[in-house]
Amino acid sequence: MIDNAKDRLRYCEERKDQMVQFIRDMVEIESPSDNKQAVDHVSALIASRFEGMGGRIRFHRTANFGDHLQVDFESSRREKPVLLLGHYDTVYPLGTLKQMPCHTKNGRLYGPGVYDMKAGIALMMAAIDAVRAWHGEFPRAVTVLLVSDEEVGSKSSRVITEILAKKSADVFVCEPSYGPKGAVKTARKGIGEYQLKVTGKASHAGLDFEKGESAIVELAAQIAKISKLVDLKRGLTLNVGMIQGGTRVNVVPAEATANIDVRIARLKDAKDIEKKLRALKPVNRKCKLQLSGGLNRPPMERTKAIADLYKKAVGIAKDFGWKLDEASVGGGSDGNFTAGLGIPTLDGLGAVGEGAHSTHESIDISTLPRKAALLAGLLGV
Ligand SMILES: [Zn+2]
Repeated sequence: MIDNAKDRLRYCEERKDQMVQFIRDMVEIESPSDNKQAVDHVSALIASRFEGMGGRIRFHRTANFGDHLQVDFESSRREKPVLLLGHYDTVYPLGTLKQMPCHTKNGRLYGPGVYDMKAGIALMMAAIDAVRAWHGEFPRAVTVLLVSDEEVGSKSSRVITEILAKKSADVFVCEPSYGPKGAVKTARKGIGEYQLKVTGKASHAGLDFEKGESAIVELAAQIAKISKLVDLKRGLTLNVGMIQGGTRVNVVPAEATANIDVRIARLKDAKDIEKKLRALKPVNRKCKLQLSGGLNRPPMERTKAIADLYKKAVGIAKDFGWKLDEASVGGGSDGNFTAGLGIPTLDGLGAVGEGAHSTHESIDISTLPRKAALLAGLLGV
């Protein structure tokens, strides 16, 4: 039993180098979401680690993505388990390590996926190990779910995440924390993706210009209307991030499409924005509009249960001499699904770092022990 904050933090400090080494081992196995073989390679390494810690391993097999990994640690107490949630896929294609080798510099560890979120997986392990050492057993059963397709929308893992969340008392998501001080995330926007397709009529730009109906001109008019639906005060944004259209410069284009990213802070805005998009009418009546898509992730709204979990975390961090802030962010995670089901969810419990999805992705090594101690504290209450 280790029952005072100072010794508990020291326990985690003593395991810092071990954590860094394991993060390096994971980062050095590249795992882009779209490469099943590569993702299965890193999950095999992670599973063997968890197995060595006494966890019960279960792979949820998938054909098109890497397998998802569930690990259970039992407790003699009969309370509902805690769910630790994360992913081991990254946005970096195979070969990225050549340009972005995993290395340390000025107290930081660099490499593809180090911050989002292989360090978070090492923190889960360190916390599980610590909470058992501090208490002599698990005060609450712990389930770990690591998925392989988070960076591409979690289509194959969502149902597993939701089933496990419904059985759990709390969900702790070890995605990157926010800012240089490592704030947790207590709210995330919901995300939708729509495609607006315009069909016009093709004609020769020289011989038959007036017989054509330009899908591109129509799409441009629609994009202007879509941009007016943005309401920053409500946290509602629409971004036309991609457009395609036309075939040749001398042809009046018959087709054009726009891909629209929609972010909402409140669930009730989802229906409203969909209604407005579906109500778009062509300016040129000879063109046709077709809308497809919908909401992918509901928003994680800061409910009372989430605020209470945050308060708990603040208390634990304070014992370790650290002021824990909270943040609300525009990006989504699998925490959106679990919070959407009403399960108390705290996100951003992963590493402190910067540059997710970019060439300077890195974590602050010195903060690993206290992040592990915080997570272990949350597993123990
Ligand atoms: Zn992530």
